[in-house]
Amino acid sequence: MFGIRRWWRRRRRSYLRWQCDICGKVRDDTYVSVITKPLIIDDVGVVGGTENIKYCNDNPDCTQKAKAFTRFAPTKRKE
Ligand SMILES: [Zn+2]
Repeated sequence: MFGIRRWWRRRRRSYLRWQCDICGKVRDDTYVSVITKPLIIDDVGVVGGTENIKYCNDNPDCTQKAKAFTRFAPTKRKE
């Protein structure tokens, strides 16, 4: 059992790393959570669309900003 545990931990450490969408740091899987929210482009919800925001779950700043973060920020139209 110990052998498998150690193998799993090493595997996690070497392969599961994600980049935080908020601060841009590449973190271990343990410290990165994913929030899934409806995809909204220009204030219009895309049917069936979702986007995944990755953030540091040990950083209150990232956790807070992840709730409002979107890769598809409303673009300002010229009128
Ligand atoms: Zn972060």
